[in-house]
Amino acid sequence: MSKKLTSRAEDYSKWYNELVVKADLAENSAVRGCMVIKPYGFAIWEKMQAELDKMFKETGHQNAYFPLFVPKSLFEAEEKNAEGFAKECAVVTHYRLQNDPDKPGKLRVDPEARLEEELVVRPTSEAIIWNTYRNWIQSYRDLPILINQWANVVRWEMRTRLFLRTAEFLWQEGHTAHATKDEAIEETKLMNGVYAKFVENFMAIPVIQGVKTESERFAGAEDTYCIEALMQDGKALQAGTSHFLGQNFARAFDVKYATKEGKQDYVWATSWGVSTRLMGALIMTHSDDNGLVLPPNLAPYQVVIVPIYKNDEQFDAISKVAEEIISDLNDRGISVKFDKRDTLRPGAKFAQHELQGVPLRIAIGPKDLDNETVELARRDTLSKQTVILDRIAIVVEDLLEEIQENLFNKALDFRNQHITNVETFDEFKHVLETKGGFLSAHWDGTNETEEKIKELTKATIRCIPIDSKEEEGVCVYSGKPSKRRVLFAKAY
Ligand code: AMP
Repeated sequence: MSKKLTSRAEDYSKWYNELVVKADLAENSAVRGCMVIKPYGFAIWEKMQAELDKMFKETGHQNAYFPLFVPKSLFEAEEKNAEGFAKECAVVTHYRLQNDPDKPGKLRVDPEARLEEELVVRPTSEAIIWNTYRNWIQSYRDLPILINQWANVVRWEMRTRLFLRTAEFLWQEGHTAHATKDEAIEETKLMNGVYAKFVENFMAIPVIQGVKTESERFAGAEDTYCIEALMQDGKALQAGTSHFLGQNFARAFDVKYATKEGKQDYVWATSWGVSTRLMGALIMTHSDDNGLVLPPNLAPYQVVIVPIYKNDEQFDAISKVAEEIISDLNDRGISVKFDKRDTLRPGAKFAQHELQGVPLRIAIGPKDLDNETVELARRDTLSKQTVILDRIAIVVEDLLEEIQENLFNKALDFRNQHITNVETFDEFKHVLETKGGFLSAHWDGTNETEEKIKELTKATIRCIPIDSKEEEGVCVYSGKPSKRRVLFAKAY
């Protein structure tokens, strides 16, 4: 086995990068800022996709697919959106390469093959989709349109990190069209709630639902709802966003509909997305210095069985028991891997499965055969117990549930311990530097104050929590009156 991971206390960021690579989730590629997602990592992403897809369909959405390229004239139609994303756009200018006459064996773009209109590689798809919706919507009978797309997008990020911020990333983007403002706002909130439910129940990550301030809002949105999670280093991570787009895109693309009363009105819009960044959230929330810790819901296999034997006869006897266990567990919908590789010693297998976060490990040796027992080890607590063979399936089933719950509760405790009410700017800076986490503070509601605080401390307003209560107070920075607290944090 390769040497141990850097510990979180030593260097959190190094720990994260090493873990992603060593646990075989992803690696950097030959393309700047773009990663290769490896099979083990992709299997986790596929589980997220499957569950989210189910939740989208349960809430009435359908999947569709739109082009990767957005003609520049369409892209610039909604000005704020275009302006917001302009700095991160990859642009296709040519459609052909040719042999370079000056450099044998090299290619160059064919100067004759310049595109008449440049194509933006989608950083988000509102433009191309709303240009399409114009043809789909004539009257109120055509509404609502509830569509989701699973896709890749490109945002030319300058500082990239595996999963958390990459130049190309995988995501889903919902784009809905509605007859009324209220309905669109309802949809925006509904989908933010779907994300919260998914991330909490499925990924075991507690989140705070809130609304972004104007400066953190999606370019082209009237309101951005979000879910914010807290990582173990005390930094926040935006785990998902849901935008109320008003009639901005309908106006930009002239999407009108005939109302029931026969009038013409612009259509109301929402969009919402989560990305492979969620993989980063998963890793940073649960994992430890020994490696990945996976909630059972997301583990590519929930149980691994490792045989411990000295000869073929022992291996055969152990295999027989293992096959029975596998069949029992599969009947209960539990996924199991029987690690019978003869190229690795049991200790090395243990280390690998620990590093890869398999929730439960069953070891079976010759003594277990005699005693009709197995050894069961939990990844989350690293505790071991001996279990009677007859009871193994039921014990595993219960434990998987317990682990899922335990991981959530542990993360929730940590998160709750890291929300601190602060009243003065000195206190703000002190808590931010010594403890980190979310700072719940009064803010005067102005961009200038938000900007100033960011400049001085690197902390940003993560959100105005949707369940925040009105409370008289004074802004932590300016001393001006404030009606509610908002959450600040340093963020990824
Ligand atoms: P947005 O369209 O900006 O609201 O982003 C939609 C989702 O993608 C949010 O959950 C973001 O946190 C996430 N996201 C934004 N930029 C990146 C990136 N460069 N890499 C990975 N995820 C991202």
